[in-house]
Amino acid sequence: MDKVRAVSPTASCHLCPVCQSPSTHEVKSLSIESLERLIERDLSLTNGALDLGGGQRPRQTELRECRGCTHRFFTPPEPGGSDFYRLIGEVAYTGLRWDHELALNFLKPNDALLDIGAGNGAFAVAASSVVSEVCASDFSASMKLTPNPNLWSFDGSVLQADGGLGDLPAPKSSSAFSVISMFQVLEHLPHPLRTLSAIAEALPESGRLILSVPNSKRFSERYLQGLDFPPHHLHWWNSRSLNAALEAANLAVDAEFMERIWSPKAWVVGSWRWLISRRQADFKIRHMPGTPWPLRNLTRGHSLFVVVRRDKR
Ligand SMILES: [Zn+2]
Repeated sequence: MDKVRAVSPTASCHLCPVCQSPSTHEVKSLSIESLERLIERDLSLTNGALDLGGGQRPRQTELRECRGCTHRFFTPPEPGGSDFYRLIGEVAYTGLRWDHELALNFLKPNDALLDIGAGNGAFAVAASSVVSEVCASDFSASMKLTPNPNLWSFDGSVLQADGGLGDLPAPKSSSAFSVISMFQVLEHLPHPLRTLSAIAEALPESGRLILSVPNSKRFSERYLQGLDFPPHHLHWWNSRSLNAALEAANLAVDAEFMERIWSPKAWVVGSWRWLISRRQADFKIRHMPGTPWPLRNLTRGHSLFVVVRRDKR
């Protein structure tokens, strides 16, 4: 009986996707329908516009937390398809964000950079004036790259459905990309550890990976945000779970930063809006993204940022 349980698909969904610990517990079971209504409300879509459970997809998702690394993840991990992203429109970040600007400080003039999940290409364009070469890749065709001799885009899919990397493009100016960047991507992947491990393998000896993820222990003005849930986000990262994932992928941390909020006005206005939002929420999850409690969360901003390299162990 135990053997049957150990290999059942349901049991495998309960493994922590970061540290592989079987010791995880359910935080909340959520209906896909409640998530559809939440996303519709956030994006001002008409009621019933989303049908995330269509076809063979399950109608329920479970938020679980790992007792070891505290990672929170949704299972089954069902990412959004092209239909979902077509319907919710362009949610890619526009312009340079905090993590992009910070990353520019970690680039060197002779670097060849591969930007995975480049979105509209804002970071790739900015980086192209710092490094010798930038290749921008994204699964959607939303990149709006300004022609530039140091910058080119890769049309193929770098990230595979199983989490591995496909055939990486070759840089034009050197034998390998010395830096890979991946901003706000890991939270969307069903198998983030496989992707991190594949990147660790692909990096040259002195190469670096620069990445950012949303910080689940942050303060924001909303109690519940639809795009923090499946099918958009499949993981809620925190500093501890991100470090556990990097260690498991044999990546050593050179630098780590958390985005900060230093604005009393944002705290007051945000807390007020948070209370209104909480009253409107139709289901409750403790320690949600956006919670101002405990008070130390007030300074915690949206993103976690790391610069890592291959661990020589
Ligand atoms: Zn874990």
